[in-house]
Amino acid sequence: MRKHIVAGNWKMNKTFEEADELINDIKDQLEEITLDRNTQVIICPPFPFLEMATDYSEESYFAVGAQNVSDQESGAYTGEVSAAMLESMELEYCIVGHSERRAYYHETDEIVARKVDQLLKHGISPIVCCGEVLEEREANRQFEVVKKQITDGLFHLTAEQFANIIIAYEPVWAIGTGKTATPEQAQEIHAFIRGLIAEKYGQAVADETSILYGGSCKPGNAKELFANPDVDGGLIGGASLKANDFIGIATAF
Ligand code: PEP
Repeated sequence: MRKHIVAGNWKMNKTFEEADELINDIKDQLEEITLDRNTQVIICPPFPFLEMATDYSEESYFAVGAQNVSDQESGAYTGEVSAAMLESMELEYCIVGHSERRAYYHETDEIVARKVDQLLKHGISPIVCCGEVLEEREANRQFEVVKKQITDGLFHLTAEQFANIIIAYEPVWAIGTGKTATPEQAQEIHAFIRGLIAEKYGQAVADETSILYGGSCKPGNAKELFANPDVDGGLIGGASLKANDFIGIATAF
């Protein structure tokens, strides 16, 4: 049975003290609830707070992920963080190809593919983002756009490698805007993505792949989004910065 996943992408938010407080709040709230045994909670703080998060995670129910990784192995790449470094910190997950990285840092599908390769080489599960911008949705091009992102970013992998991939469908027009895809829109494209995976790797691999929804997901709309058969959880931005909201989403299955 594929996992339900709720992953919090903190983006470039919080100071050291604020991060400490938020992680502690999440940890305390996780102790008070009973999570579905099939649900994995992941927090993805900025790089400087990863060690703090992994320390706390040892005595809690959440796992830790990074928000980015270099597409290079090591060496003279000032400011970059390698997959080997993340592995040495025992990180289990890393977000790749977020629309903000694609838009502001020119992360192409080819770069996404190299980052995915680096992560898999170092035993880290990539959470690979895809999704169309508003003009593409208005032109009904979302299927074509997502197909290209997934094909070029991921379909060079073997089926065995692909088994470690988590996909996050995030319509760019819904990220941080307060506009959410309707449950029907989310289900339609999640089913389409699962169909692409089935065509390439077979139904069994497709059935085991967790496909998350991202884009203004909140406690108030998570339940109806997660109720869809092909929506296996969420990648959460803004609402992951408040423990109550984040835990409210993690318990929405
Ligand atoms: C995100 O950036 O991955 C995201 C889903 O953000 P928000 O929840 O704030 O829309």
